[in-house]
Amino acid sequence: MSEKKTVEKKILSRNDKIAAELRQRFRDNNVKVLNLLSSPGSGKTSLLEVTIQRLQGEIDLAVIAGDVQTENDALRLRNAGGKAVIPIETRGACHLDAAMVRNAVEQVQLDQTELLFIENVGNLVCPAGFDLGEDMKVVLVSTTEGDDKPLKYPAMFKRAGAMVITKTDLLGLSDFDIDRAIRNARALNQDLQILKLSCKSGEGMDQWYDWITGLLPLKPNNES
Ligand code: MG
Ligand code: ZN
Repeated sequence: MSEKKTVEKKILSRNDKIAAELRQRFRDNNVKVLNLLSSPGSGKTSLLEVTIQRLQGEIDLAVIAGDVQTENDALRLRNAGGKAVIPIETRGACHLDAAMVRNAVEQVQLDQTELLFIENVGNLVCPAGFDLGEDMKVVLVSTTEGDDKPLKYPAMFKRAGAMVITKTDLLGLSDFDIDRAIRNARALNQDLQILKLSCKSGEGMDQWYDWITGLLPLKPNNES
């Protein structure tokens, strides 16, 4: 094994250890965690904005928002009404790792959180290799990208539990073939759940909200 490979392996096994600890803490507190991944500009922040607007009050949501530089996304999410939005500025790193998430989690009241979104850095390559203790990786592909994204970044699509096709209001304006995108993704990952939506037109958003809320454990009913 080359020296570079050995170093990579060490980093990943350290990461996996921290991720396992995080996963246990999330379980102990009954927090569902979704790790959102995509290329830059696929609409992760926009999807979170409308999700916060719609579900806050119904679900106790928190967001950890990763960016290479700036805290702009976190600011957008706070402006959308997000009460628990923690920025991570990676200062050049092109992915989040479990240690960064562990630091950010210190600022999240886990016992008062039902769902935690982690908005990863826009990048379909190395974030696939870094477990953050999430329940599921959710990969976004927008209709303004190539429908061959799954073929180009197979590791990401193999490890994802769900693929969200965003900006469906723009279908037909480019060469993006939604059926081909789904075929390409399913060829790598038969069990991949698929959602299609547009934050702008609202198409598919109800299915998205139903899907998210369906992932959460049923709340004990205190009201009656
Ligand atoms: Mg963003
Ligand atoms: Zn990276």
